[in-house]
Amino acid sequence: MAQTYNPVTPELVEELKKVVGDRYVKTDEEYLEQYQTDEEGNPHFFKKPEVVVFPGTTEEVAEVVKLANKYLVPITPRSAGTGVACGAIPIYHGMVVELQRMNKILKLDADYFYAVCQTGVFTGQLQAEAKKAGVMYAGDPSSAESCQIGGNVANNAGGNRAVRYGTTRDQIYALKVVTPTGDIVDVGARLKKCSTGLCLEQLFAGSEGTLGIITEVTVKLRPLPPYSFNMVCVFNTDKEAFALPNKILKAGIDPTSIEYMGNSAIAMTCKYLDNMEMPHVDEGCCYVIVTVESFDEEESDRKMEKLCDLAEANGSIDEFEADQRIWTLRKQFAEAARDIDRMFQTEDFVVPLDKIAEMTAQIPELEKKYNLYTVTVAHIGDGNIHVLPLNKYGLSPEEWFKTIKAFHADLFPRVYALGGKMSGEHGIGYKKLEEFARCTPEGEVKLIKAIKQALDPNNIMNPGKLVDVNGDFVA
Ligand SMILES: Cc1cc2nc3c(=O)[nH]c(=O)nc-3n(C[C@H](O)[C@H](O)[C@H](O)COP(=O)(O)OP(=O)(O)OC[C@H]3O[C@@H](n4cnc5c(N)ncnc54)[C@H](O)[C@@H]3O)c2cc1C
Repeated sequence: MAQTYNPVTPELVEELKKVVGDRYVKTDEEYLEQYQTDEEGNPHFFKKPEVVVFPGTTEEVAEVVKLANKYLVPITPRSAGTGVACGAIPIYHGMVVELQRMNKILKLDADYFYAVCQTGVFTGQLQAEAKKAGVMYAGDPSSAESCQIGGNVANNAGGNRAVRYGTTRDQIYALKVVTPTGDIVDVGARLKKCSTGLCLEQLFAGSEGTLGIITEVTVKLRPLPPYSFNMVCVFNTDKEAFALPNKILKAGIDPTSIEYMGNSAIAMTCKYLDNMEMPHVDEGCCYVIVTVESFDEEESDRKMEKLCDLAEANGSIDEFEADQRIWTLRKQFAEAARDIDRMFQTEDFVVPLDKIAEMTAQIPELEKKYNLYTVTVAHIGDGNIHVLPLNKYGLSPEEWFKTIKAFHADLFPRVYALGGKMSGEHGIGYKKLEEFARCTPEGEVKLIKAIKQALDPNNIMNPGKLVDVNGDFVA
């Protein structure tokens, strides 16, 4: 049955103002336009909210959610809006609940390794405060300076240190959540182990705002290793590069990061960074960037030597130690792509490590078939590949949308056939909803829908994302 919602009325707006204060409820056109998209650049996906609400406390969030139920108006939770799956786009219009006012680190304990953060704390801010206190917050999406901890949990953000420390779900102890019916619940606990009931904090991690609004996160902190190095291994062929990660893991080097940059990705980003010069780019080579951290200087030196030997044995033509500029190159890749094409598409599929070469070898064929130009980087130590098709040939937004849709219909079954999934870290959002339903086993979709319906009987919490409860989705 098609889902219908009520429009936002002046009466609802007045009630919202009573909860959060006049200045924190916006209906001006300039605001609504600002919230019609997240990082998505194709206007095909844009949808404006009818009202944007800025609650300042968990209790205010709960009252706002209760009003949404009372008036049957959909809610789209939003942190920093850096998501790339259209997760924060209010596709049924209604209300955007923007969490930027809840931006304090409430506690940081460097002795017992935890911090309690409000949802709107920027990830980079948490990393910096932890470092200042002599510890580390290990979550590290490339967007750390511009995304927020609540958004990271909602999307189970990955990033560059996942090989050693895991993704955001591995960084959390506990959450405070406002459920879709407006109850405030605390899930999880600051415990090293727990066999007491269901692991609900993990259910909310990666739920993309469909099961509730996260207002507080208790994160794990870790000891800060004093020694580290970044080694760039240079390869003539992708096949050789893709074989290296598993060998590094097998050798017990225990890297923090293993990243891949294809030649055209390096060249594009160097150009964007004022023609930054990097070795071997003109020779068509690709890079595998390996970061190793250690608490012992000698161990660090030994691992460096071992890594270089391994790389050479596997066909590396050069290895060089890089400073933090290599991370600027890696992290600015998406901005460099955006500079060429605002509508660029970020693929985010993930495959088992032994299938990386087999999967990526199919990309040139797909490029040709759909007349695409792509550049590739990858969190290669996790099998998470970002192939970015760029709209280099100037298709209109609708033509581009159709091209990508056809590409996805071909790409994702190939990924699944190799035991992979369509998203390693960006989520499904609105953008991949149809493909997710098509590629996911029926029983799994049924289970997800049952959980969603049990928690959100009015289907008001970020509807049309991740799973289409009522089957009326039209992209
Ligand atoms: C340049 C660039 C680089 C990036 N690099 C990475 C990377 O390396 N790894 C990675 O994983 N991602 C990356 N991303 C994607 C993005 O930054 C992450 O998905 C990030 O976690 C989104 O956080 P946000 O605060 O911007 O959330 P938003 O975009 O605001 O929201 C994301 C989703 O979470 C929901 N949501 C937000 N806040 C809450 C809340 N408090 N409670 C419940 N639901 C909520 C929203 O409804 C939406 O569905 C990158 C993006 C850019 C632009």
